[in-house]
Amino acid sequence: MLYRKLGSTGEKVSILGLGCMHLPIINGQYNKVDTNRAISLIHKAIDNGVNYLDTAYPYHNGQSETVIAEALKGGYREKVFIADKLPSWLIQKRTDMDKYIEKQLERLQSEQIDFYLLHSVKADSWSNLESLGVLEFLDDAVKDGRIKYTGFSFHGEIELFFDVIDSYNWDICQVQYNLVDENYQAGKEGVRYASSQGVGVVIMEPLRGGTLVKNVPPEVQEIWDESVVKRSPVEWALRYLWDQEEVDVVLSGMTTLKDLNENLGIAEQGLTNTLTSTEKEIIKEVRTAYKGRKEIDCTQCGYCMPCPSGVNIPANFEQLNHAYMFQDVGNSRMNYYMLLKEGERASSCIGCGDCEKLCPQMITIQKSLKKVRETFEK
Ligand code: SF4
Ligand code: SF4
Repeated sequence: MLYRKLGSTGEKVSILGLGCMHLPIINGQYNKVDTNRAISLIHKAIDNGVNYLDTAYPYHNGQSETVIAEALKGGYREKVFIADKLPSWLIQKRTDMDKYIEKQLERLQSEQIDFYLLHSVKADSWSNLESLGVLEFLDDAVKDGRIKYTGFSFHGEIELFFDVIDSYNWDICQVQYNLVDENYQAGKEGVRYASSQGVGVVIMEPLRGGTLVKNVPPEVQEIWDESVVKRSPVEWALRYLWDQEEVDVVLSGMTTLKDLNENLGIAEQGLTNTLTSTEKEIIKEVRTAYKGRKEIDCTQCGYCMPCPSGVNIPANFEQLNHAYMFQDVGNSRMNYYMLLKEGERASSCIGCGDCEKLCPQMITIQKSLKKVRETFEK
């Protein structure tokens, strides 16, 4: 296993982290973790050098945290860092923060959480948490030892990312970043900025929820196949990330020993600056091929905004485009409901037509929003 220094913390973390949101389950029931299989998976990962476990309050309805606690008995706890997260959406007052972290420490049977992140920071959750004093809460929890390091996981726009990074002395951030999404949410710019500020960078969704390896579109597969160096889509996706020195840990939500073995093998090669210019060119071609599958030619310029009715026009088109690019309506529908507030969704369009005069791409916005509605809301 290769290790990197995590931002300014100085901690040496494995470049591969175990995301514990897709542990083995019984009879396809997400809330029933198969404890024995999950523990063997966690042990095998740690025995092979993985020292970063990522969990969160809602994963497996709380069982991710309790199974980790079981797995770390008998000397394993000292070998790993646990990253856990404050469920931002459940916080209505300052005392809720203390209530949830106490519950999490209890579930983890641990006296300290190594990395405690604000879960899923986006515009609304950030302003709520900030106004309720979350930064003072983090200061207090570090001071009294409930947590060692602070961080946040992010799902907002890049401008917000800069604001959040500049608002506090964070130890780490966790962002969605992969070979196609270089300019989505925090993206490449955010990753570079965080790293330049000494904030450790943890990557989630390196395979875009699996979409970069399942259902690979034929035009993308053709490009991979033409490469002289033969790699699986998983290997390309992980090597792309580990090649960058700003990236510290890449999380993978592994379910089976097969997934784990595959990722462990790839991690052996995960050194920085090892991809050749030809290999980087291939990745660029793949990115272009994915982008060519966009359904709507929206550049996300935002000239059509603000919509008097509150519709977040570019965000709606972004999710529709993702559904087409990655042939995955399910995942995009989930993001549509998770990332857009009700009033921002396509169904809030009242058909005034104001936006269409402003779009440099001449997109028939109302018609396209109808397509968004039909795709996600039916
Ligand atoms: S047509 Fe719909 S999306 Fe466009 S500005 Fe009017 S309400 Fe907003
Ligand atoms: S103006 Fe057109 S291209 Fe720009 S964000 Fe709006 S819909 Fe997209």
